[in-house]
Amino acid sequence: MLNTITDQVSVSDTQTRSPRLWIPERVLFTPAALDEDWGQQILKRVQSLNLPIEELSQNRLKGLRGESERDTYNIAKRTLAVVTAPPSSFKLSPIPPSADWQFHLAEGCPAHCQYCYLAGSLSGPPVIRAFANLPQILENLANYEQQGKTRSFEVSCYTDPLGIEHLTGSLAECIRYFGTRSNAHLRWVSKFDAVDGLLDLPHNGHTRCRMSVNAAPISGKFEGGTASVASRLNALRRLALPQERGGGGYPVGLVIAPIMPIDDWQMHYSRLFDQINEALDFDCNLTFELISHRFTPGSKEVLQTWYPQSKLEMDEAKRSVKRNKFGRTKYVYEKDTMKALRSFFESEISRRFPNAEILYWT
Ligand code: SF4
Repeated sequence: MLNTITDQVSVSDTQTRSPRLWIPERVLFTPAALDEDWGQQILKRVQSLNLPIEELSQNRLKGLRGESERDTYNIAKRTLAVVTAPPSSFKLSPIPPSADWQFHLAEGCPAHCQYCYLAGSLSGPPVIRAFANLPQILENLANYEQQGKTRSFEVSCYTDPLGIEHLTGSLAECIRYFGTRSNAHLRWVSKFDAVDGLLDLPHNGHTRCRMSVNAAPISGKFEGGTASVASRLNALRRLALPQERGGGGYPVGLVIAPIMPIDDWQMHYSRLFDQINEALDFDCNLTFELISHRFTPGSKEVLQTWYPQSKLEMDEAKRSVKRNKFGRTKYVYEKDTMKALRSFFESEISRRFPNAEILYWT
């Protein structure tokens, strides 16, 4: 049930269009996942969608490899596996500059971005694994709260949580949970647009909903399987609108990523800002996060097997090398290019959205 996507941002408060929904070809459940109440809740959802379900006899996922890496990719990206999060995922890692901590309701993403941030970060076939032990995952977060301080928790590092929400309901559950916490805020980001189920939740202003957007030539060429930028902005508008106008009344944000100095980049990004302006033509609590394109030797290698025909520029000779504290290498744009990009984005945002906060440039 895929949508028809238009390129215009709706400025109507109530208008909705069919959202982009990922429908997996099969849904696998491990025995451990079926033992969980949340796993049973996911089972009911996928049963109601009449999706082919397989109950596995063991907790390890097997048989997801094809004859080539590309076959494996195709099989995995059409499969939802409902599993339990491993014990290691209960030890949280910091995720600067986005948030204090990251946690995961799933790993893997149904979209097909040719620059995907997950390439090289997750091991094995890129199957979408949704976690059936969500209540335990949420309960564990209290160990990372701090009295008297607000701690932020990012839930989109290893998945697009909205992209699988119609199958899991897990993002809504996270939002409800954070609505009850006084010292913890949730952050999520998406390239999907099915937000109807999130508008009436008791979030208490503790969740910031963000959409990841990009200039039209980048989004059109490199972001397969996602909702259009216009649909994402329309979804963000609905999340941000006050509840008395039929919206969600959430704090919202734009993640502009990955920023690339394509031909006529100023013109294309100015058009993107025009679209954002049109979508968010009312007072709202708005932030921006600005992320320039980068890659590592590992991510490049994986992306080239996933997208062998891609025209994405990943030429080490055109980049500067940056090393992190563990000595790992990443390739970023050269200093003058970075400076020009950063200055353009910061001045456009402060001119067009004087009340919005830029959280970081990287
Ligand atoms: Fe990867 Fe994010 Fe695109 Fe999903 S939406 S394919 S996680 S870059």
